[in-house]
Amino acid sequence: MTDFGDFADFADVVRPPAAGGGAGGTGGAALGFFAPWVVYALVLALHLILPARKVSGYVVDEATGEPLRYRLNGLLVLWVTLGLWAAACAKGLVPWDYFWSQRWASLAGACTFGLVFTLAIVLPAPSTGKSLPADLYLGRLANPQWGDGRVDAKMWLYLVGAVMLELNILSFAAHHVLTHPGDASLGVALYVGLFSFFLCEYLFFERVHLYTYDFVAERTGFKLGWGCLTFYPFFYCVGLWSAADATYLHTPAPLLVVSALVFFSGWALSRGANLQKFLFKTRPDAKLLGLIAPEAVTDGTRSLLCSGFWRLSRHINYLGEILMATGITLSLGRLLDPVAWLYPLYYVALLFPRQADDDRRCAAKYGALWQEYCHKVPYKIIPGLY
Ligand code: NDP
Repeated sequence: MTDFGDFADFADVVRPPAAGGGAGGTGGAALGFFAPWVVYALVLALHLILPARKVSGYVVDEATGEPLRYRLNGLLVLWVTLGLWAAACAKGLVPWDYFWSQRWASLAGACTFGLVFTLAIVLPAPSTGKSLPADLYLGRLANPQWGDGRVDAKMWLYLVGAVMLELNILSFAAHHVLTHPGDASLGVALYVGLFSFFLCEYLFFERVHLYTYDFVAERTGFKLGWGCLTFYPFFYCVGLWSAADATYLHTPAPLLVVSALVFFSGWALSRGANLQKFLFKTRPDAKLLGLIAPEAVTDGTRSLLCSGFWRLSRHINYLGEILMATGITLSLGRLLDPVAWLYPLYYVALLFPRQADDDRRCAAKYGALWQEYCHKVPYKIIPGLY
């Protein structure tokens, strides 16, 4: 195991007081079941009361013809929640590894919440004309907002998913540190660092997300609702579900370096492409980072970007996302653990069909212009290969 002396001190800090915690037993499981509900309610309350940037989005409000407005304060909500969590743990009110010890109960609670949310958001809304199961799965409402636009359902869903995932990761890692005093894995530390970076930078660039497929093409049902309330916070950290309790965890130093390199290469591709498209939609003539000039194919009214990141492939951002997940998984050093690989494999299963869906959508929307664009940018995801 990688010797990481400072972790021994950290283990002393995170060890729960002997008499405190109360995480075990039937009563503990009942509390654990509702713990995600408490987190989701707290995130909603913080989102409502903390200061927020008010911005226009990309999706147009059908009633007014104007872009929908959003309040964004995700990063602040994450930090305040983590601060409250750390304060509660430091006072001994909750063990640092609470969401590890209650992982099955809280997964069940989050799953139930996701199902209740799905029924509550879909059933009262007018049918789309599809079957009820299709409506339940894909949703009926495109971009629901509550409280006179103060809360956007999709942005709240992504925010609760991110906050709950971060709490799970920290709790799972705390369990690892507590059970390996003085001998915790540096790979786990890197995993936490990379994942936390991934979540914080997503929330930092929250506004860019308003310009993505989820907002323009998806409705709000089980896929998005249950996905953000249950799947995102509990499945994305599947690597730690399998690794946090392992007796021997060793990530050789060269693999730590490789995993960080793979992660940040993916990040550069994904964030670079998303920022470039955002800039192109909001300020069509501006250069990305003052360097990459926008070039586009155009039919006179509509334009498609085909320079910089968007020259490499039509969805280079998806390749970036898969590389980030691969880097995160590599950091744990469990190359032969199939469970750890489920996370990047899930991205492959999600993003390859999504690329095909988006391609169909864009072919229908842009017609001949899309053909011209595909001719100019022939690769779908992996430059030179696919
Ligand atoms: P894109 O950001 O690529 O958005 C696709 C849309 O962008 C198209 O429907 C089209 O919309 C527009 N578009 C496509 N090509 C061009 C072009 N050349 N020039 C200008 N506009 C273009 O995909 P997603 O929204 O699916 O993904 C956004 C990000 O989110 C990605 O980085 C992805 O990897 C990430 N993601 C992350 C997930 C996670 O769980 N972490 C899950 C899914 C996605 P229009 O014509 O309406 O403008």
